[in-house]
Amino acid sequence: MNKVELLAPAGNLEKLKMAVLYGADAVYLAGEEFGLRTASDNFSFEEMREGISFAHARGKKVYLAMNIIPHNNDFENLEPFLKEAVQTGIDAVIVSDPGMFAAIRTLRPELAIHISTQANTTNSASVRFWHEKGASRVVLARELSLKEVREVHESCPDIELEAFVHGAMCMSYSGRCLLSNYLAGRDANKGDCAQPCRWKYHLVEEKRPGEYFPLEEDDRGSFIFNSKDLCMIRYIPELIETGVSSLKIEGRVKSSFYVASIVKAYREAIDAYYGKEDYQYREEWFQEIAKVSNRDFTTGFYFHKPNEEDHNYGTSSYIRNYDFIGIVKGYDAAKGQVVVEQRNRFKIGDKIEMLPPQGPVREFVLTEMFDAGGNNLDIAPHPQMEVRIPSEPLPQDAILRKKS
Ligand code: SF4
Repeated sequence: MNKVELLAPAGNLEKLKMAVLYGADAVYLAGEEFGLRTASDNFSFEEMREGISFAHARGKKVYLAMNIIPHNNDFENLEPFLKEAVQTGIDAVIVSDPGMFAAIRTLRPELAIHISTQANTTNSASVRFWHEKGASRVVLARELSLKEVREVHESCPDIELEAFVHGAMCMSYSGRCLLSNYLAGRDANKGDCAQPCRWKYHLVEEKRPGEYFPLEEDDRGSFIFNSKDLCMIRYIPELIETGVSSLKIEGRVKSSFYVASIVKAYREAIDAYYGKEDYQYREEWFQEIAKVSNRDFTTGFYFHKPNEEDHNYGTSSYIRNYDFIGIVKGYDAAKGQVVVEQRNRFKIGDKIEMLPPQGPVREFVLTEMFDAGGNNLDIAPHPQMEVRIPSEPLPQDAILRKKS
């Protein structure tokens, strides 16, 4: 049996490495052109080469997102961009536009092409169409039920299908949305969404401009378009048994903490599914996921059309219970100190949880720490600063977090 692929977002080089180390089988990233998500750091070709060699050395794949909705002038730099991208060693490109697809097939017929969820593929006929044109994979629209995903696979068994397993949901059809263009002049279809679906709205009667009537679900306001985040950790067997080849985690603009925690939870669930016939869901996977900032969770369209239960009417804020405080960068054996790159403030007396790439979470109370010059610290206040903690060695690249 082919094992389903766990596909993770790589917003920058550090997140790529975290995704790979914490258990992703493949990652997707964007270069400095053609990819959605201008808010993520995106990769220069040099960074792409480094990331790809890191992933390939560990048997993992890297896909390059080129899924903007392009205008004519966007094609001008396609050939040189593609030439250099192929030289970096990418395993596939992700494309949504038929013109872009055709141009890439002509320029690089050997290159595997995945059809982006932005192409809104919702049925077997469309999947067959893309298969006949030479696509090797279709990322299905998020708006399909599990039953529909299974039906598409059964009628198109020879092409890989990818389905979302976790991450933010758009209120509009898989991101085809003009709200942000209209309200903020920022093009969601070129990766620059200002997320106006999460904003707080009022009602204005046309003859009384300037009078804003509150729209209130409760005293914090009303967020009428604000979807909860997709989370399918409880339904891994159901998703795998649809026949999909890849399970995708959304979130190239999210933190390394997000990538590490979410990938690790799904890695363990997928491995448990393939490891034993008596697969048992473990609530600790969900508890780990919930420690990363989120908008509460939904199963999206997989079991039923979303209703009021699947939206966050009360707030547009993230639920955030834990702070990401640092990453273990090494061990100074001579001094018996763990070297940590700090990401958020922490202090002596804090109870710290350590999330390693493999194995269980460990807790400890911080009793002593130093800066790089050996000076005693009570508080580690500056993100990116090197902090040293006397300890037994901790796993390289372990995430440190604490309750907010
Ligand atoms: S405004 Fe909301 S629904 Fe529209 S593309 Fe942005 S995130 Fe998606």
